[in-house]
Amino acid sequence: FILSVAVAVAAIPEAFLAIVTMALALGTRRMLKRNALVRRLPSVETLGSTTVICSDKTGTLTANEMTVKKLFVNGKVIDVTGVGYETKGQFLWKNKPVMIEEIELLLRIGVLNNNAELKEGNVIGDPTEGCLIVSAEKASLTKKDLEIEFPRIDEIEFTSERKMMTTIHKLHGEKLAYVKGAPEVVLKLCNYIYINGKSKKLTEEMKKEILEINKEFADSALRVLGFAYKTIVTDKEPEKNLIFVGLQGMIDPPREEVKIAIEKCKKAGIKVIMITGDHEITARAVAKEIGLVGKVVTGQQLDEIKNLEDWVEDIAIFARVNPEHKIKIVDALKKKGHVVAMTGDGVNDAPALKKADIGIAMGITGTDVSKEASSMILTDDNFASIVNAVEEGRGVYDNIRKYIGFLLSGNISEVLIIFFGIIFGLPLPLTATQILLINLVTDGLPALALSVDPYEPNAMNRKPRKLDEPIFKGLNPFLVYYPIVMTITALALFSWFYFEKDNLFQAQTATFLTISMFELYQAFASRSTIYPAFKVGIFKNKYLIFAILSSFTVIVTSIFIPSFGKFLDMSPLSIFEFTFIVIVSSIGAIIIEISKYIKTRKEAIEV
Ligand code: ATP
Repeated sequence: FILSVAVAVAAIPEAFLAIVTMALALGTRRMLKRNALVRRLPSVETLGSTTVICSDKTGTLTANEMTVKKLFVNGKVIDVTGVGYETKGQFLWKNKPVMIEEIELLLRIGVLNNNAELKEGNVIGDPTEGCLIVSAEKASLTKKDLEIEFPRIDEIEFTSERKMMTTIHKLHGEKLAYVKGAPEVVLKLCNYIYINGKSKKLTEEMKKEILEINKEFADSALRVLGFAYKTIVTDKEPEKNLIFVGLQGMIDPPREEVKIAIEKCKKAGIKVIMITGDHEITARAVAKEIGLVGKVVTGQQLDEIKNLEDWVEDIAIFARVNPEHKIKIVDALKKKGHVVAMTGDGVNDAPALKKADIGIAMGITGTDVSKEASSMILTDDNFASIVNAVEEGRGVYDNIRKYIGFLLSGNISEVLIIFFGIIFGLPLPLTATQILLINLVTDGLPALALSVDPYEPNAMNRKPRKLDEPIFKGLNPFLVYYPIVMTITALALFSWFYFEKDNLFQAQTATFLTISMFELYQAFASRSTIYPAFKVGIFKNKYLIFAILSSFTVIVTSIFIPSFGKFLDMSPLSIFEFTFIVIVSSIGAIIIEISKYIKTRKEAIEV
């Protein structure tokens, strides 16, 4: 009965749940160090199998540090000099400084239709708006003074759906509407244009010219806003019959790390999709800078596509989209069997974040609603952190597999040894106490150390794992071949001690030592299912070294110190016998390592 209980204890990996939870929890800690805060534990595993990352452009792929570089006003393209949020700079037309009334009006609308603030060289609020304050200060127009002169009395707020914003101001008993937004959206609402100090009828020709300039700006990766105004006569329709004033084009440089991160994704078989509210040409130009190529689809086209799932895999950029479009995109990708990570920051992004396999909210610019709906938050709003989190996710999953390979192999062997011992009519090769000791000594600490093992070097050089892929895939060497070799070796040594030396206690001690040593060697071999141990660094996991040394000390003590060993059913072996068993027990690990070496060499030659 006691033996049955002991075998049952040996066969059931009772620490499994605890160790998997610990591996996931430690994974979240490592991810946090790399700026990804995981809100739901199982997401760590899902992250590892991500096949598509849908990322916002502004602030995630780009730095969100805008600087106005060009204006279009009064029929002229004006260059704006100056760096970042530095308020020193010039307005140049054909390389000569210029300042005309129309430029001032354009800059004034930008400053007054604005909820950001400039404090000690930093922008508080939306950087798109912040850079408009900076461009105006270059013309000595400060927000503080203008707000006294033109007090704001109302606001029609910006939303990603409207793509524009309006503020109403009072001036000498009159009401003025100042409007800014996506150029094509603002232009649609304009009937007049402000040129040479007067408002004139806006012709179709002029609209075409403005859109042409908009395209030119966007081609050089500038994010462009259109500006307009009107004097309100009746309170109805403050956003109609507007007078177009001009454009401001701002650069938003890509984040430095993004190009490398996208390259990493390519190698890892992960598709990256840019989803942006910005103009398709700006989006394409930014995408080119970060090494993202593929088809571009606009929100308008997206509305017309019926079976998006048939097309979605060829598309790299979705431009001028609304948050609702994101749901359509996630749906289509999921229908194609993808595991989708999707970023979002606004309130309206929440449904898409919930729908995605991994909803990712922005820690700095994200709304509370988006954070609440997400499974992960980026503390630095950076795309590269998503890729790092995926790498961590893959590593954690690999470690869980290493642990399973290690633990089950030992458990299977113990059961096989008892089973075949009985079948061959041998006395029991192990006592119940020895089985429990193996369980405690070799399955405990080394298994725990494997769950925090440094990741294999190829984690981001292979295709994503399929979600329904069995966890045992590729573990045959550990779960089948290793237990067979271990069982044969253990029973052979047991038989030799039992028949040749006629000493059952020594034979059982020899079996104990064989199994324990097999497992300790396997702990090293389990560090990689693909690469030989020397390639992943034998001594890289200091916890494992500590665990193995501790286990070995218990083994040596229990075998060589009779006063301790007698409680554990041990009988001392000679130094020669001990050394012989320790050496012979490495045979399983040697076979596994040689087969890994041959396999990786063959693959390298084929590549
Ligand atoms: P993302 O790439 O993160 O989707 P985005 O900022 O381009 O970024 P939205 O914030 O939805 O996306 O903006 C859509 C469009 O609305 C922008 O391209 C711009 O033309 C216009 N826009 C952006 N911010 C403002 C604003 N504060 N006021 C007026 N118009 C804006």
